[in-house]
Amino acid sequence: MNIIDGKGTSIAIQDELKLAVAERLKKGLKRPHLAAIIVGDNAGSRAYVGHKIKACEYVGFESTLIELPKSIDQKGLENEVQKLNSNPSVDGFIVQLPLPEHIDSQAILECVLPHKDVDGFHPINAGKLSLGLPGFSPATPSGIMELLRRYDIETEGKHAVILGRSAIVGTPMTLLLSRNADPGNCTVTMCHSRTQNLGEITRSADILIAAIGRAHFVTPDMIKPGAVVIDVGINRIADSSRKSGSRLTGDVAMHEISADWNGYITPVPGGVGPMTIAMLLTNTLDATPA
Ligand code: NDP
Repeated sequence: MNIIDGKGTSIAIQDELKLAVAERLKKGLKRPHLAAIIVGDNAGSRAYVGHKIKACEYVGFESTLIELPKSIDQKGLENEVQKLNSNPSVDGFIVQLPLPEHIDSQAILECVLPHKDVDGFHPINAGKLSLGLPGFSPATPSGIMELLRRYDIETEGKHAVILGRSAIVGTPMTLLLSRNADPGNCTVTMCHSRTQNLGEITRSADILIAAIGRAHFVTPDMIKPGAVVIDVGINRIADSSRKSGSRLTGDVAMHEISADWNGYITPVPGGVGPMTIAMLLTNTLDATPA
């Protein structure tokens, strides 16, 4: 079993970004500035945003965290987004999802100026991605592309199977892997909850990407020998051996795969998650005027 080390790769990218920031400052250019809006006190969201802010400190970006109460209404949140849109010091920003149920999340994402939308969730950036035009791509699929690139994994002509069709992972992943580029040029099959004969399809995958949010859904019998398996899932399961009583695990039953299996796999944690942060920072650097 070959492990694709997302954590190590993320640190390598962050070290490159640190150098790029130092170079910018030497030339008298602006320090990149990422802002994040968080609404309410969802523990998971707080942890994710905390990691992003910490990573900003590591690479030398300025960061701003805007914490808003769960009770904020649509108009109030849109005003906060507009403030960041018009703040020339902020190069890029994110609105951490999920938002409270009374908020129309899509309307909020559409308020973000596309050139500050470093999460790549605005319809203009999604449209550019589908047309193959330059713009911001969502960080998780971009991070997977970067792992494939840095691990020299051949993608041309390969059959990539993607489990999940969400706007933030499955759909952009399909677009990136099918692009006429390197990495890219895959023949892609995108699966979802209504797909029939799923195991038959996954067994034909040279590259299998699991992004459904179901712990250990992908079992060894669903994986082709020698395949590249990218596990995007983040699922919390009970674990009495931990002080917290739980731990994070992926969509792939990695513990059931034998050690002499000859493929490549990303672990959870330590695979795709850290790459998502590295690519968010990369997008922020790209959003900063040269
Ligand atoms: P969504 O819930 O938005 O989408 C899940 C997708 O999986 C849907 O398209 C759904 O199909 C499909 N699906 C659900 N059950 C099945 C099934 N039995 N067979 C086939 N397809 C199925 O999730 P996200 O895309 O936002 O996230 C997916 C996972 O990735 C989650 O665990 C999330 O936490 C994780 N994640 C990790 C990130 C990271 O940085 N590592 C970043 C983003 C997400 P349908 O459309 O038919 O409902």
